[in-house]
Amino acid sequence: MSMKLYERCSRTFRDNPTLSRFLVVFAVSGGGLVAYSEANVQSAAKIDALPEAGNEKKRVVVLGTGWAGISFLKNLKNPSYDVQVISPRNYFAFTPLLPSVTVGTVEARSVVEPIRNIVKKKNVNVNYWEAECYRIDAKSKKVYCRASQDDKEEFVVDYDYLVVAMGARVNTFNTPGVEENCHYLKEVEDAQKIRRTVIDCFEKACLPNMSEEERKRALQFVVVGGGPTGVEFAAELHDFVSEDLVKLYPSVKDLVKITLLEATDHILNMFDKRITIFAEEKFHRDGIDLRTGEMVTKVTDKEISTKVIKTGETSTIPYGMAVWSTGIATRPVVMDFMKQIGQANRRVLATDEWLRVEGTNSIYALGDCATINQRKVMEDISAIFQKADKDNSGTLTVKEFQEALDDICDRYPQMQLYLNSKQMSSLVDILKESKGDVAKESVELNVEEFKSALSQVDSQMKNLPATAQVAAQQGSYLADCFNRLEECTKNPEGPLRFRESGRHRFRPFRYKHLGQFAPLGGEQTAAQLPGDWVSIGHSSQWLWYSVYASKQVSWRTRSLVVSDWMRRFIFGRDSSQI
Ligand code: FAD
Ligand code: MG
Repeated sequence: MSMKLYERCSRTFRDNPTLSRFLVVFAVSGGGLVAYSEANVQSAAKIDALPEAGNEKKRVVVLGTGWAGISFLKNLKNPSYDVQVISPRNYFAFTPLLPSVTVGTVEARSVVEPIRNIVKKKNVNVNYWEAECYRIDAKSKKVYCRASQDDKEEFVVDYDYLVVAMGARVNTFNTPGVEENCHYLKEVEDAQKIRRTVIDCFEKACLPNMSEEERKRALQFVVVGGGPTGVEFAAELHDFVSEDLVKLYPSVKDLVKITLLEATDHILNMFDKRITIFAEEKFHRDGIDLRTGEMVTKVTDKEISTKVIKTGETSTIPYGMAVWSTGIATRPVVMDFMKQIGQANRRVLATDEWLRVEGTNSIYALGDCATINQRKVMEDISAIFQKADKDNSGTLTVKEFQEALDDICDRYPQMQLYLNSKQMSSLVDILKESKGDVAKESVELNVEEFKSALSQVDSQMKNLPATAQVAAQQGSYLADCFNRLEECTKNPEGPLRFRESGRHRFRPFRYKHLGQFAPLGGEQTAAQLPGDWVSIGHSSQWLWYSVYASKQVSWRTRSLVVSDWMRRFIFGRDSSQI
């Protein structure tokens, strides 16, 4: 009888995701209910079969279930597509919390959500296959896949639209020995392996018959790369050691050393100078050995060889564990695809501002695996002038110039950035710059003056960073385009086409930067918010907690993460080597 009640409650919660919000509140007092609700697996799911070709619905194939892919799937609402998702990973991972997983501040299972949970939408037909795509054939519109299970079964899927969201791989810069000897911090498995290895190093250092030198080596942790991930990991490791492990391993606690190697002159280069300086000073105070301007040349199983870039001086660092976190590179399958479509000379897959892969017409790419190849205003300047000069007089009046500027702002993101950077609010300012102070109503611009007025605009072009924030915004932008494809094909809402007639179907993708965090350990976080607003310290740590709790993909993971944080506050981190 009581089982029935439990079953009924748990089903109600699963079928009504909003109810699970109450579950979070319940969780504090009734953990048993949560545990049961999650442990009860849904009854036999129907087997997904490859839908037959000739299906009326357009088939959208999505490659990848990371930030970009999941954001696309979550926002796709139009039921007129048949969606097939292919990814070797049957869950979404909340990567910003991976550094916390490496030391057990948060448990691995708290930061992942099964794909099937996310896509069990009522109105859009979504199928998932656990497989990796090893070849994209743009000509015949097929993707070739290999199942992830033991037998590695291969199959081919046709698509009408392809969404490539495969992310990137770790970049070793072909440094010898990195792949064999270093840990990466990219996937959940990596974080779990690091956690086990850290404890292993401590246990090893405590064994009898170890020489002092061997103990020291076992407890030498080296982090390569001073970007946000490397810095956050070093900070987490330092907290773990100083808050939890020193009490458990008192005999070896003085032998621990954390070294952070960075090839450029400073860590956290993409942040405001104030944050960089604060972080560097904090690391010095914490006793983290910060070595900037030094690059790794080779890694063996016992030592890391480095070279100081300015002086060429070389040295070796013996180590117990090394974590490599120096940036990303393109996956081989994407490289292969780039060769096929004439992008062989590029480093990253290029798309236009609508996220469509250049050189194709039904393939989109987003997130870490792609970059937007922005068009320069100067490339189109003559066409823009012609369009703007409505009466074909060979000159633009102030009114015509204003209208042209509005169209340029719609089409080229760098135009708005340029106006902002020069703190120009109107075209009068631009005219003043190019024509002196004769900016009156009667002023007319010829093509040369028009060119010189806009000649600096393209200097504001920037590539978007490879972050979850960009990937997620691109996913929801593309889903929105798919949702309104029919509508916008009939009534285009995009900017004017300067080289051809008519308008673009959609507005181009625009990135909205919401700010960025750098957790520095000791309950201190640096936050850089839009408008160059910088905040460092304990208050930003609380902001960090609340933002990361709110960004979780489901109420289930949200409650798990929050309870992990509470557990850590009360009991500390678990140091079992499992
Ligand atoms: P991913 O999220 O990497 O997803 C790629 C997907 O493609 C995966 O599901 C993968 O399994 C799948 N895939 C791989 N190969 C194939 C194949 N052959 N066929 C089919 N599918 C395939 N960004 C922030 O904005 N803020 C942060 O705080 C932050 N912290 C980070 C911390 C860490 C430790 C890491 C590693 C990254 C962090 N990032 C952060 C960056 C962010 O995670 C990435 O920018 C983001 O994951 C990119 O999303 P994506 O969808 O392009 O790729
Ligand atoms: Mg004119």
